[in-house]
Amino acid sequence: MLHRRPHELTVDELREILRLPNHLIAIIRPDGTFYKVNEETNPILGWEPDEVIGQQVRDYVHPEDWEETYTHMTSVFLGMKPIVEDLRNRIRRKDGTWRWISWTGRATGGYIYAHGSDVTDKVEYEEALTVQSLVLESISEGVVICNQKAVIVFANTAAEKLYGYEMEEMLGMKLFALSGMSRDLSKIKVRDALETLNSEKLWMGEFENIRKDGTIFSTACRVTTLDLHGERHFVCVQRDISAKKRFTREREELETRFRTFFEQSALPMIIFDAQGNPLDVNHAWELLYDINRSELEGYNLLQDEAYIEMGIRPYIDRALAGEVVMTPPFYLDPAKLEGGKGKKGRARWLEAWFSPIKNSDGTTRELAMILKDVTDQISTQETLREMETKFRIASESLSLAVRVGQVGVWEWFPADNRVIWDETSEKIYGFEKGTFPQTVEAYTALLHPADAEYCWKAVEESFRTRNSYHIVHRIFRKDGAVRWLQGSGMPFFNEANEVVRVVGTTMDISDRKEIEEDQKFFAEISEILSSSFDYVTNTQRVLDLSVRTYFDGAIVDEIDKSESRRIAAANLEPELREIMMNLNKDYYRSVGMAHPFLQSLKEPKEIIIQNADELLSSPGLPEEYVRKSLQLRMKSGYIATLQGKNGPMGTFGFHLRKENPNGLSERLIRLGREIGTRISLALENSLLYHHSLEAIRARDEFLSIASHELKTPLQSLTLQNEMKRRQISRGEKAALEPAGIIRALDMDKRQLNRINRLIDDMLDIARIRNARLSVHKESFDLISLLTDVADRLQPQFESAGCELHRDYSGELILMGDSYRIEQVLVNILVNAMKYGAGKPVFLRVKKLSHQAVVEVEDRGPGILDEDKERIFHRFERAISSREVSGLGLGLYISREIMELHQGKIHVTSEREKGSTFILEFPL
Ligand code: ADP
Repeated sequence: MLHRRPHELTVDELREILRLPNHLIAIIRPDGTFYKVNEETNPILGWEPDEVIGQQVRDYVHPEDWEETYTHMTSVFLGMKPIVEDLRNRIRRKDGTWRWISWTGRATGGYIYAHGSDVTDKVEYEEALTVQSLVLESISEGVVICNQKAVIVFANTAAEKLYGYEMEEMLGMKLFALSGMSRDLSKIKVRDALETLNSEKLWMGEFENIRKDGTIFSTACRVTTLDLHGERHFVCVQRDISAKKRFTREREELETRFRTFFEQSALPMIIFDAQGNPLDVNHAWELLYDINRSELEGYNLLQDEAYIEMGIRPYIDRALAGEVVMTPPFYLDPAKLEGGKGKKGRARWLEAWFSPIKNSDGTTRELAMILKDVTDQISTQETLREMETKFRIASESLSLAVRVGQVGVWEWFPADNRVIWDETSEKIYGFEKGTFPQTVEAYTALLHPADAEYCWKAVEESFRTRNSYHIVHRIFRKDGAVRWLQGSGMPFFNEANEVVRVVGTTMDISDRKEIEEDQKFFAEISEILSSSFDYVTNTQRVLDLSVRTYFDGAIVDEIDKSESRRIAAANLEPELREIMMNLNKDYYRSVGMAHPFLQSLKEPKEIIIQNADELLSSPGLPEEYVRKSLQLRMKSGYIATLQGKNGPMGTFGFHLRKENPNGLSERLIRLGREIGTRISLALENSLLYHHSLEAIRARDEFLSIASHELKTPLQSLTLQNEMKRRQISRGEKAALEPAGIIRALDMDKRQLNRINRLIDDMLDIARIRNARLSVHKESFDLISLLTDVADRLQPQFESAGCELHRDYSGELILMGDSYRIEQVLVNILVNAMKYGAGKPVFLRVKKLSHQAVVEVEDRGPGILDEDKERIFHRFERAISSREVSGLGLGLYISREIMELHQGKIHVTSEREKGSTFILEFPL
């Protein structure tokens, strides 16, 4: 319409057009003044047309817009741009305010015909939008503005990104098109939002959205209303919460996972609050403490005395201050915890981790305590520590031993056959410092042949396994002595796996070895000596063993009845044994017991012979003896008395040959002494054994004699009795005569007395045996006792045909048991008449200063020297039972009685001339 040319219109038409409401019409002269304006200038700008016409356009245009306006005007006038377009400028109203006017127009006939419309509202709206959008753009959250019909009028860059659309694409779209929810759900949400916004300024909710590419995402949405240009709009600010949602979901999963882990973990765990109150424990923890979590009510970590005592408290404090800490191991016995009575939880070594759970401001909210059972570790550690200590001690003592020269150190270089010894090694092998030839051959030569193979095997094995080796072996020291060594070595290898060097130690352990050897030896000889009572065979075996083990030769002689007899001999060379066995026969044959050497052996004694030659060259020795002795090539020797309880029983001796490298050492002497002791013991035991055999034999003989002795009087009593009975029953007159009866009774009495005496003796024996023979000491006169006894025995002496000569007088008062003394006197007097029948008997009493002596001398057969002692023993009789009757108890009992009186009884006798029994009483 405006584009129609004005001159084609009528004036009225034009007037009508110019009256177009809300539209400004202006005709502008080439000088820039208004030529005509329409009536609308007033309602729009407040100016009357007359006030404007003729005025400069420039005066009404906002200075900021003038340049643009002028450019437009000029170009229109110049016909360059016939139609004015898009000029928008501010025109001053009469009241001084400005209105935005948008102009179109063209120049015709030197005038510009312009049409303007008031666009102030639109410009302001746009401006407001621009300002808002600038603000909204700066928001990182997606902002979408829609009008009441839900048409999008604005979206910011963040929203573009969020939805994946270009801005232009979004403008004009319906908001619903962006919803990823069902239409119904969307509507419900929208309705809810609208209702809320009627009363409140803000609605908040979550939306599921769909992107241009079809993916769904969640947003948290805040909606507010906004009045734009009088119209109500909705501003939706959207935040993508997919990540957060995912995070929340993940957190929930994590939490589940953690709970599962916490609950099912084998590690005992407990969570405390910052004040030390338990919040939660897991199952493992309950097991460890044997406590149900409900029982933890009232427990407080910070008040637990046990942790303070164990020194764990500082760690807890550090953890509460925010540090993750691990405690050193501590020992926990649930049964010992406060209130832990009857708790079955195992006592363990534990380690605790404390890990603080923090608030956002870094303060500790909770404290997790995780326990770890380190009992096994601890015990392993302890073992390790122990081993370490042992090793240290071992190595320290080794280095000490090396320093004090007990352990020799050596090196061996196999490639060039070199062996290097330190001073101690040389000393051990008996070399002067620096004199060892330093070759393997020199070493091998010293190895004991019996051990060499074993040693080299150990070395080879160590090369093969690349381990150290340890050996115990013998060597010949340079002086020839055999020594026991303990050695060890360690091989070292080069890249070609060849042994380049062996380093080792050596130590002389002969002393230890010797002790072991000696113990073994003595165990063996003890066994031999106790194997039987055949002491000759046993002794021979002991000598054989001792010669194999220590000596070159050994002998045992027995001194029997003042005569020396060789019972065993041994020599390393068996052919020399015979010489040794017979050697002392030659010796004794010519020298006899008179030789001072044998004399000296009558006393317990040992003789150490350091130089045998010297001894053999001593004067007075039989030539034959010396000649044979020299064949034994003795170097040194030792002789010891075999000492019995009752004096020397014999001798033990050993010797070393001249070629023996070992000397007569302390050890050998000690051994000899010990062997001697053991042989004497064995000898004595076997003597005792033989004695007891003898005693048994004597007892058996006694029993047969005793029964015979008892039987004899009993038999005659029986006979007498029988005879009397017959005589009386036959009425023989003589038998009834009193004299005959008395004679018969006297005979009976004699038999009965005899039985009585036998029984008394046997009872006394039993008493002596039980040490129960009683003596009641009182003072009595020995002379009158003797007189009584002699008087009483007088008839018997007479019937034995013995004349009893008494030689005593006066008085002799003694302290003693007169009844027992009488027993002794009767005994020896009866013996005298028994054995010296038909010959005189002399009874004498001698009073000396300190003792009274009673002698009973007979002229009987006498007693052999060897029997003089024996007859005083139990059941011992010097002559056989057939010759003279008796139990062999009388003298035994007599000696016992005399000893109970501190007195003595002994006998002197000469064969075929008689015996004298002597009683000595102390005064
Ligand atoms: P018994 O006379 O009963 O045999 P004794 O103990 O009195 O026992 O004597 C022990 C032994 O001593 C006798 O068996 C006898 O061999 C010897 N004896 C004792 N007295 C004499 C004596 N006066 N003359 C010779 N031998 C005697």
